[in-house]
Amino acid sequence: MKTFQCPYCGVGCGLYIDDRDRIKGDFEHPANRGDICKKPIYLPKIMDEGRVGRPLYRESKRENFREISWEEAYRILADRLSSLDPSETYFYLSGQLLTEDIYVANKFVKGFLRTNNIDANSRLCMATAVTAYKMAFGSDGPPCSYEDIDDADTFLFIGSNAAIAHPVLFKRVLKRRRELERAVVITIDPVETETAKKSDVFIQIRAGTDTAFLNSVLYVLHREGWIDFEFIEKYTEGFEEALEQARKFPPEVAASVCDVREEDIYLVAEAFAKSKKLISFWCQGLNQSINGTMKNLALINLHLATGRLNGKGCPFSLTGQPNAMGGREVGYLSNGLPGYRDVRNPSDRRFMERFWGVEGIRSEPGPTITEAVDLILEEKIKLLWVVCTNPAVSLPNLDKVHSALERVFLVVQDSYWNDTCEYANLILPAAQLGEKEGTMTGSDRTITYCEKFKEPYGESKPDWLIFTELAKLMGAKRLFPYRSNSDVFEEFKRSTEGRLCDVSGLSYDKLPARWGGNWLYGDLRFPTESGRARLHPAKFEVATERGEFVLITGRLKNQWHTMTKTGKSPQLLKGEIPPFVLMNPEDALELGIEEGDEVVLCKGSKKVVRVVRFSNVKRGHIFAPFGYPKEFGEPVNLLLTDRVDPYSKEPDLKYSGVSVKVLAHHRPSEGLP
Ligand code: SF4
Repeated sequence: MKTFQCPYCGVGCGLYIDDRDRIKGDFEHPANRGDICKKPIYLPKIMDEGRVGRPLYRESKRENFREISWEEAYRILADRLSSLDPSETYFYLSGQLLTEDIYVANKFVKGFLRTNNIDANSRLCMATAVTAYKMAFGSDGPPCSYEDIDDADTFLFIGSNAAIAHPVLFKRVLKRRRELERAVVITIDPVETETAKKSDVFIQIRAGTDTAFLNSVLYVLHREGWIDFEFIEKYTEGFEEALEQARKFPPEVAASVCDVREEDIYLVAEAFAKSKKLISFWCQGLNQSINGTMKNLALINLHLATGRLNGKGCPFSLTGQPNAMGGREVGYLSNGLPGYRDVRNPSDRRFMERFWGVEGIRSEPGPTITEAVDLILEEKIKLLWVVCTNPAVSLPNLDKVHSALERVFLVVQDSYWNDTCEYANLILPAAQLGEKEGTMTGSDRTITYCEKFKEPYGESKPDWLIFTELAKLMGAKRLFPYRSNSDVFEEFKRSTEGRLCDVSGLSYDKLPARWGGNWLYGDLRFPTESGRARLHPAKFEVATERGEFVLITGRLKNQWHTMTKTGKSPQLLKGEIPPFVLMNPEDALELGIEEGDEVVLCKGSKKVVRVVRFSNVKRGHIFAPFGYPKEFGEPVNLLLTDRVDPYSKEPDLKYSGVSVKVLAHHRPSEGLP
């Protein structure tokens, strides 16, 4: 029996594979206590499907790939990297890598090549929550843990369809509700999602207006005398400024902006005021927005204004990917350094320079991935190295992304062939989870050791080893002395000593374990300059886009990201294809559209075909799952703009103006998809 963390969502469930190749939930693991959802069950059947077994290379993108040896692949890379200025290279990593992989890649780029031209797909996912947590609490990291669910009485889901995106966590919430009669689950979303259907209260908000709604809740809390002034006085700063902003949103104003009832705003305020313990969960519905950081801060403001931390509650951002938290600990975004350090901080840089034995870590954060796309098109970035992610499907404004991928010398390091490989010059086969060993950190800071249960496919290698071998060839043996993942972990953990995310006392045999304890700020001292948590004025910016409908994107129930793995399982594809769009039946009726019809979603000259499913989506909105690869037609991200939140630089993947036109009427004899 081998144990590991699930490679899919950020709940970070502990799993094991038995001697008959069956995947089960690990009863010893604190994240899931034996529970499991459908997605990982089919893992053993799909691990060898659609793999690349040897490095592949072509000088020109018009040529066919030829198989090459690892030695030749490393020589090509070493020559390219040596001939380019580091600022002409760019690395794009993933929250699905192991911490050891990320640590070595980050060191290779920031410490050895000395450029901060590195980012991760967390930029599309958690960058906003990271930014808001840092602004409010002085550091990243969810303040509470899953155990807090078990004695809470009120749960707020906003911008999160946890029932399908974080199912084991949601089941834990439902279990608590079954046990405690007065427990209540509230969901705020433009779509009546599975989470909304299972909630006690569903507030169907207009997309993009959460900041106005949450400001109004603060307004009501103040008006009703429900602010915890003692907590405010002792542990926070910035309340007056936050309130001043909230005063712009009396319920009658916010109700109109958000298209909700005034009573809904009052109900949420009352929940914050009167519950015993309230946990608010959020995910990409708040993060992926041009107003995302403000949405996050407006929610955190409510917790601080009512003292809802630790035993009284928590603002809990749900991580999208299995090891986005580990990536954050290692500092894999363009501004990060290991141990929650930042390239902009001189003492952080000095520490890491001494620690790594390097000089000249750059002080400016590198471009984010959407900025890097522009720099490629301006021919300022000439080599792009993509590791374990699929930007040809997952980035917004895909026409532009595809042009950039065409132009750049593209290295793809992945376990599976995916749509990005179509644009590659060099493909490096990487070992996937189960074929390598190392750690991952789930949403509540619990680290799990992932054991190897299978030999790597073909000549695939662990990602940390690929960077280590290349660095050695490039003369950096002293910096990259690692012979095993354990060597890497030992070095990484020393870099965290004395930091908030201190894991220096852990070892593989002590995992799973959570860093920071159950409550990260249990003593209500915060790593800010003043030691206090900070409320911020949450400014509301109206999201506007031309189009008859607001297009919202999100997850499918049984598929993961761009389907490179889960799409290989017929069981997991069932019910998810053909690609569909959810529409309100009344909106559809007005356009003469029936359920099952094929429609074209249009934005200017860009067109994406989908099959209509009726659903309780807010009128004027449609919902289309992202992640269908090209074999299912044009990806929906073609219709998304690359506008970003100004603080986190996270793109707005949840708001795009589109029109809808009927392409073909459904024939009842075909049955509904
Ligand atoms: Fe994996 Fe998430 Fe399902 Fe847990 S809830 S088994 S982590 S996909």
